[in-house]
Amino acid sequence: MTGRTSARGQVRGQASAGELLALVRSGRATTRGALQQLTGLSRATVGQRLDRLFRAGWLREGAGGPVDSPLGGRPSITLEFDDAHAVVLTADLETRHARAAVLSLTGEILAEHSGTLVIEDGPEQVLTELGRWFAELLEKAGHRADEVCGIGLAVPGPVDIETGRVVQPPIMPGWDGYDIRGRLSRAFTDHTGAPPVPVLVDNDANLMAYGEQRSGHPDCSAFVLVKVSTGIGAGVVVGGSVFRGIDGGAGDIGHIRVGAEALCRCGSYGCLAAVASGGAVARRLAEAGVPAASGADVRDLLASGHPEAAALAREAGRQVGDVLATVVTLLNPGVLMIAGDLAGTPFLTGVRELLYQRALPRSTAHLEVVTSRLGERAGLVGAGAMVVEHLYAPERVEERLVALGY
Ligand SMILES: [Zn+2]
Repeated sequence: MTGRTSARGQVRGQASAGELLALVRSGRATTRGALQQLTGLSRATVGQRLDRLFRAGWLREGAGGPVDSPLGGRPSITLEFDDAHAVVLTADLETRHARAAVLSLTGEILAEHSGTLVIEDGPEQVLTELGRWFAELLEKAGHRADEVCGIGLAVPGPVDIETGRVVQPPIMPGWDGYDIRGRLSRAFTDHTGAPPVPVLVDNDANLMAYGEQRSGHPDCSAFVLVKVSTGIGAGVVVGGSVFRGIDGGAGDIGHIRVGAEALCRCGSYGCLAAVASGGAVARRLAEAGVPAASGADVRDLLASGHPEAAALAREAGRQVGDVLATVVTLLNPGVLMIAGDLAGTPFLTGVRELLYQRALPRSTAHLEVVTSRLGERAGLVGAGAMVVEHLYAPERVEERLVALGY
């Protein structure tokens, strides 16, 4: 080891091509001179490493023309991440409905599809159908299948991030331990004829939180998103990364016991999700003679201003708000975002009532309680960002450049 670590944690004198790309992508250094200055690499070494990135098509010269160099001398050409060299496929599974999209590497949705896809039909059927959707979406977006660099999938259950498998998911019968990555990769190949690509899987609330934090609250260092649809889950983003805990169980607040007697889909009694989820509200509406079977049905009723649905959503908000008082006290987030089928004024009113009453003023003084900005696209955007951050992480850039022969 000959390099020395600078105050910013950058290893000076030995930054790889991947690290240079990361500096350009983050905007910390966007000229050759700035890269030299930040890394301590010589002009020639920076040039050689950038050349590999140019040849791979991952870097391009900016359209804005030359800017002043931090090293003085001639103005420098700006560098930017070439987001046109590949695309990402993503999908977000709900219990009876799914969304899929083609995204650019910078997170722009290029084509999108949503439709009925019933999770209870099991992984074989659902993932095969997704493969078909992906093929159609690529055609719609005008991209070839061999341009796809990876696939990201959001699922409504706890995920072991190392294997991409769901672990004892209460609302995904038949999916426990199933090889989602392998099957979805095969479905993509079967429907497009393209070679296999990496598939990454994570919990939907985690990916929604990641997508929302990055796109709308990039400076918020402690961000919590609570998704209330058929189930209830939370995603926590700390310091720009999803906080998963050691087993991927962080944020699974739907199964905290709140003392009620209702039977939950997880098999226990008295879970928060059994009394305050979209599913629970739908059940209570149905008991009162209002046709509703899912969180999505409740969302439609709320949108039409249905008074009983609004009253039940507000009560559900109070129950969730009580649990969120603990969440907020533990994490002291800057933003608490409410998303999912129930996210609307009645539910938010209920959340605020209990949250501010039960949490310490110190932990809510600077707290913003907001609704989703990306809406139903949050999971797709978060899944795309997960794939891009994985594939363009410095160490992986090096592996991939070598594999491509650069
Ligand atoms: Zn439960």
